[in-house]
Amino acid sequence: MFDVIGKHINTLALYVHIPFCATKCGYCDFNTYSGIEKLIGSYTCALIKEVQLWGAKLSQPQLSSIFFGGGTPSYLDSVHTLKIIESISSAFQIPKDIEITLEANPEDIRIDKLHEYQNAGINRISIGVQSLENNLLKLLGRRHDANTAIQAVRKTIEVGFNNVSIDLMYGLPNQTLKDWRHTLDESSSLGLPHLSIYCLGLEEGTPMSQSVKSGELPKPDPDLAAEMYELTIEQLGNLQYRHYEISNWAQTGFESKHNINYWENQPFLGLGPGAHSYLPNMRFSNIKSPREYIYRLANTTLDLKSSSKKGVKDTVPTIDNLENLSTRTEILDTLMMGLRLDTGISEAKYFTRFGRSLDEQWESTIKSAVDDGLMRWNSDNATKQDNRQLQLTKKGKLFSNEVLSRFFAASTK
Ligand code: SF4
Repeated sequence: MFDVIGKHINTLALYVHIPFCATKCGYCDFNTYSGIEKLIGSYTCALIKEVQLWGAKLSQPQLSSIFFGGGTPSYLDSVHTLKIIESISSAFQIPKDIEITLEANPEDIRIDKLHEYQNAGINRISIGVQSLENNLLKLLGRRHDANTAIQAVRKTIEVGFNNVSIDLMYGLPNQTLKDWRHTLDESSSLGLPHLSIYCLGLEEGTPMSQSVKSGELPKPDPDLAAEMYELTIEQLGNLQYRHYEISNWAQTGFESKHNINYWENQPFLGLGPGAHSYLPNMRFSNIKSPREYIYRLANTTLDLKSSSKKGVKDTVPTIDNLENLSTRTEILDTLMMGLRLDTGISEAKYFTRFGRSLDEQWESTIKSAVDDGLMRWNSDNATKQDNRQLQLTKKGKLFSNEVLSRFFAASTK
């Protein structure tokens, strides 16, 4: 095990985790907590120190995007958010047109706060709407109702944010196709440039999964969830949204740059407790406990001069799990993530990164998947390999696990 970064990093995406929520939703297994608001001040100081340590460690690389996620970033007073952004601007290079996203819950959205976000350079707001059925919002443990969510979206647009996204969920206990159609109709009438739409995953240990186990709530029907997904594809397709990733739809030009960076398996740095990072030849995550995170950073000396020479674990005291990655793992991750995108995997980028063409490395696997109608090249007539993209077909999207397992099996031969 070694923890020296394999090569110089020119650009990377930055994720900032805010582990505070007013209350915990019944389905949520994210590393986030309610009732620890008194830690917000010391958490901001700790996070700023982590920003400074990484900026020095990586020699102030340029950021391609910044994403405040959680948790509930909008739950923080803007003064904390502004301090964090200021520290990021000092420790990293920030291009003028950088995408800066902040996740917000509808009940936190106020005009004054939105103006403060704008002044701080935040230019994309992602709102956790989840549903526009009040009974389902209650069942999920959300703090807002449908009207609050719609008003929040309208306020955000009125203030001048043109890049606004909402999160919605389907496949919920007690959710009917009629409910979902209504939520979709209402949401699409808001004229949003981006929607992220997820199927509920019942995560082990959450109150909702317990309620389903005990029979208090009905188990969501996977066939009904599949129908909801089909309806979503059809309806948003008719409205000219591009279904650019399995769970994401956007008007042209509003695809999330931050998330595309993940799906292209490019480097990203995650700050805050439990945040994950991927840098060339390694991935790692921070310790999950916010208290321990604050404690360790408070007891770390800011030695910015020599940090670029040390290993990452000696520089940043909050790293918990660190895994060195083999080229095989990086290749399989690139395939697994890239095939989520409608554009698929670029032959040229793959060649530049791994030194072999997709065809050369995976000829028989790709041929059998193409013959079975699971994959295709974006252009059968492409004569130049560097124009080609390897993509899943519609059938391949339904059987994506099968496709990936073929690549895994071939990689062990
Ligand atoms: S607001 Fe979001 S992060 Fe917080 S508990 Fe609910 S789902 Fe989880």
